Amino acid sequence: MPTASPARKSSASKPAAAKGGKPGKESDHPIFSELGFPVDPNNLYRQTVGSMLQAADLMDLPHHLKIILAQPKNEIMVNFPVKMDDGTYRLFKGYRVQHNNALGPFKGGLRFHHDVHLDDVKSLAFLMTMKCSLVGVPYGGGKGGIKVDPYKHSKSEMERIVRRFTTAIAHQIGPDYDIPAPDVGSNAQHMAWIADTYSFLSEVGGHQPEAVITGKPVEFGGSLGREKATGQGVVDTLVEMLPEVGVEIKSCKFSVLGFGNVGSWTGKILQDKGAKMIATMDHTGAIRNDGGIDAHQLAEHVRKTGGVAGFKGATRIDKDEFYKTKVDVFVPAALEQMIQEPEAQLLNCKVVAEGANAPTTPAGERVLEARGIEVLPAILCNSGGVTVSYFEWVQNKTCQQWELNDVDRELNKHMIAAAKRTRDARKKYKCNLRTAAYIAALERLASAYSVRGIFP
Ligand code: NAD
Repeated sequence: MPTASPARKSSASKPAAAKGGKPGKESDHPIFSELGFPVDPNNLYRQTVGSMLQAADLMDLPHHLKIILAQPKNEIMVNFPVKMDDGTYRLFKGYRVQHNNALGPFKGGLRFHHDVHLDDVKSLAFLMTMKCSLVGVPYGGGKGGIKVDPYKHSKSEMERIVRRFTTAIAHQIGPDYDIPAPDVGSNAQHMAWIADTYSFLSEVGGHQPEAVITGKPVEFGGSLGREKATGQGVVDTLVEMLPEVGVEIKSCKFSVLGFGNVGSWTGKILQDKGAKMIATMDHTGAIRNDGGIDAHQLAEHVRKTGGVAGFKGATRIDKDEFYKTKVDVFVPAALEQMIQEPEAQLLNCKVVAEGANAPTTPAGERVLEARGIEVLPAILCNSGGVTVSYFEWVQNKTCQQWELNDVDRELNKHMIAAAKRTRDARKKYKCNLRTAAYIAALERLASAYSVRGIFP
């Protein structure tokens, strides 16, 4: 599915998050100058690490852990040439950032998008470390990507781009070291080409080389339930957390920003539980139907046409109307930094369930908090994807194929446990859910570091 540029590009000149206040300290933490962070307060990496540092301060995390976690362990950048269908050559840039592996191998998706930057990849890798720790899977965090618009290339060009990128990073990944997965713009077919290229290069057929990557097609080592896993995890989190804000899932109304993998599966599963999708927006436009938009039919329309525009079961609306639509739950499931102050002012909901990574800026979050809107943070809400990726990896390593019921049941256990850890931290530290989720994640990392020590 084609994706437009992240919202921040059009709003780079927006004012910085206010200094001081709540939650505002993330914009000027002393560790930023100690480590030479980018000074732009709209920088995604600065914002995501800033939120973590706020939690780290509150729980009194030792300084050495703050600096270790504020920077990735490895930042890999590669440039590689690929022959196009017309015989010309183009040079592509790829990234793999390995943030932390204190809890296990680096783990995280590969984004194929024309607007991927190193700092975005660093943020997403950092979030993976936090997410894996919170949801209790034995992984660290990584992320990667290629600066490419996958929808502007033929299948054969994409195959050469993906295989050549795999070759460029093959020595830096591995089933026990760094295990990529899909993200925006990449899909199961791309994962299959990566697994095939890696197994050819590593010449270790027989040692489950396909475990080097997750999100593969089911017929080539993929897990049942992986495709829907992130959406399923969003819904599992909502089922667990909504009673606290007095919303019943059966009668709940919701809207979804981004109707790709995460958005469409969240929509379909919520609808199957009795909830009603009132509005949605993607890069092709926004639509609304107060009587409910059928998420299954819409997903089929998107598969055929590439976007939500033109769907017969709803009326086209403009962007502001989309954000203003009254719902119980708003699910951002597109790109980063799309909920800034103006969008946060427009939202008319009780809960924001972050399906996307880092969709809410600190300034946007302050507005939501002041308006009494509860935010279920991404590291909790969208951790279903990496959890089922872990199940896929376990199945590959042990030559098993789990039933879908088993995958869903185990996923639900992880999601409920992560929600409970987050709630417990909120109670103990009297903070918002984002800070609580970071504290719960940091507690596990801090325990690991205290027994491992730091070499030498
Ligand atoms: P996707 O490419 O399948 O879907 C992205 C959606 O965002 C599309 O509907 C696209 O139209 C929409 N979009 C892009 N730019 C937009 C714009 N400017 N305005 C409105 N809509 C826009 O990607 P995905 O896999 O669903 O990922 C979505 C988010 O969820 C990302 O932040 C990703 O990192 C995160 N995430 C994905 C997974 C996963 O398993 N796929 C897991 C965890 C987190």
